[in-house]
Amino acid sequence: PLLLLPTGEQQIVVACRIRPMTEEEILQGGTIIAHKVADDNMVVLLDPEEDHDDVLRANRSRERKYVFDVVSDARADQQEVYSSTAKMLLGSVLEGYNATVFAYGATGAGKTYTMLGTENNPGVMYRTLHDLFVEIKKFTGKREYQVSMSYLEIYNELIRDLLATSSSSSSSFLELREDAKGTIQVAGLSEVVAKTPEEVMEMLHKGNRARTQEPTKANKTSSRSHAVLQVNIKQRDVTRSHTEQVRFAKLYMIDLAGSERAAQTQNTGRRMMEGAHINRSLLALGNCINALSEKGTTKYVNYRDSKLTRILKDSLGGNSRTVMIAHISPASVHFEESRNTLNYADRAK
Ligand code: ADP
Ligand code: MG
Repeated sequence: PLLLLPTGEQQIVVACRIRPMTEEEILQGGTIIAHKVADDNMVVLLDPEEDHDDVLRANRSRERKYVFDVVSDARADQQEVYSSTAKMLLGSVLEGYNATVFAYGATGAGKTYTMLGTENNPGVMYRTLHDLFVEIKKFTGKREYQVSMSYLEIYNELIRDLLATSSSSSSSFLELREDAKGTIQVAGLSEVVAKTPEEVMEMLHKGNRARTQEPTKANKTSSRSHAVLQVNIKQRDVTRSHTEQVRFAKLYMIDLAGSERAAQTQNTGRRMMEGAHINRSLLALGNCINALSEKGTTKYVNYRDSKLTRILKDSLGGNSRTVMIAHISPASVHFEESRNTLNYADRAK
């Protein structure tokens, strides 16, 4: 059976994944400063810089503790991370509710590994689609499903189609259109009917290679683009009249751009502007999530501030479910980034 949302009502689930140390981090002599507390959904982050005597005198702790809905560390494999996060969205998506799962964190923290994964060890996108197809098959003869997908990139607040074939122009930018009902559409975006998860995976890897990735001073493989996979699920009850009983749901799976601050990359000119745009999208997303997670109040949610939040307008809040997976490195050298990420995720609860 599909895992349902923990409380049945919780709109936003916040997870944190601490990846293993990389060889590079070990070679740099880095120590592990981020720990999952056993049997607890808590992350303990140690400040490597704080002067110990200072801490003792002020009776302050070097530890910062964060509690989330789900925490996984180096011991958790791809299936475990998927099972405790995106899998819980499938039930409501099959019922016709929109949902969003996104990977947040600094460049190198493990976002793409979680979402896309590797050919041998696929991530959340593949596993979600795999289980979606399995669930759909159970309804054969009762319900008819059509699953289609689009894959786009937001880079510099410009939208590019990652599934565009060479004949259609993959270099041009797409515009957002709002119809009379207030629904946002990406005009001209490719929509591909998906039959098997393998087929989808091949498309995603191809699309991912088309993502804009440029070197910056902070990190050679810095990714400054948001990759947005949109899965459309249309279902029809075949036991009833043809014109009725059509349900439609959207599931967004998003590999966000690196959250490191533009200031830290010491870039100027064009890169600075890119940084500002990325922060604008992430800030807008953070603001939306904060507004939504404010319980019992009718706080105004401003989706208009960025392309990302405009696209997600009907898939964040309302009847939709959201899972955020915050990613951190365990290494001491990434303390600042990890702290920023944990604080961002903490505000989303
Ligand atoms: P990001 O997309 O956040 O920039 P990546 O997903 O590319 O980060 O991860 C950076 C590096 O760490 C990659 O080489 C990736 O294979 C590796 N990595 C990330 N998470 C894990 C994990 N959970 N287990 C093993 N290796 C990982
Ligand atoms: Mg990445």
